[in-house]
Amino acid sequence: MAILELKQVTMRFGGIVAVDGLDLAVEEGAIHGLIGPNGAGKSTVFNLISRFYEPTAGSLSFQGKDLLCMAPHDVIHHGIARTFQNVELFRGLTVLGNLLVGQHSRFRYGLVASALGSLLPSVRRQEQEAEARALEVLEFLGIATYKDAYPHSLPYGIQKRVEFGRALVAQPKLILLDEPAAGMNPQETQELAELIRQVRDRYRATVLLVEHDMSLVMRICERITVMDFGRKIAEGTPAEVQSNPAVIRAYLGE
Ligand code: ADP
Ligand code: MG
Repeated sequence: MAILELKQVTMRFGGIVAVDGLDLAVEEGAIHGLIGPNGAGKSTVFNLISRFYEPTAGSLSFQGKDLLCMAPHDVIHHGIARTFQNVELFRGLTVLGNLLVGQHSRFRYGLVASALGSLLPSVRRQEQEAEARALEVLEFLGIATYKDAYPHSLPYGIQKRVEFGRALVAQPKLILLDEPAAGMNPQETQELAELIRQVRDRYRATVLLVEHDMSLVMRICERITVMDFGRKIAEGTPAEVQSNPAVIRAYLGE
């Protein structure tokens, strides 16, 4: 069953058609790759799924529900989390703080009550649970030792993991990863591949992965969609996509 379905989705920016009549179905529990040359429209697809952009045309559904009825700030509560192409973490917060940001919006009693947290045992308990969950995610990602450090003082590979952690702590059903291996060395990329697999297996999350590192994509994705100039030009297993002449042409820029 498809957890995410895009039908004939188009996104125009003035004269630019960034996404052009795209059909995309992502199976629940899959690691699905979305690849294509620079400017193909991949990040725009992520921005559409996370509701940053309103599509010019087309429909998007998540778990059978119309995504376009969800407010951007609600997408995360519906179970969709993302990371960004460039790391976006809060400078003034520790690693743990970055994972807890946004968590209190999940609390039943809201922000004001959260500020009064220590007065309300139930809120205090929810905060403790959120912190325990965040620490568990940091452990899982192998970065718990950095919990009190400020992200900008840490190596880039660690910052990427922190961002990954921030997405995971929301317990998403679908996680959108935008070039997670960018700036990573081969060793870090290898570890990332293993992590993505574990995320799927342990958190039962579906993963939609945009990535330039082809060896990573080919190694961990069960299915791959290839875009060029906003359109889907190929789709299939890694073996099918790799041998597709249209894909080879797109990458060679002919
Ligand atoms: P990719 O992630 O595949 O490299 P993008 O989705 O970032 O591609 O961009 C696809 C196209 O849409 C590019 O031509 C880009 O310049 C354009 N684009 C993306 N976002 C915007 C925007 N907010 N305003 C105008 N043009 C945009
Ligand atoms: Mg991009």
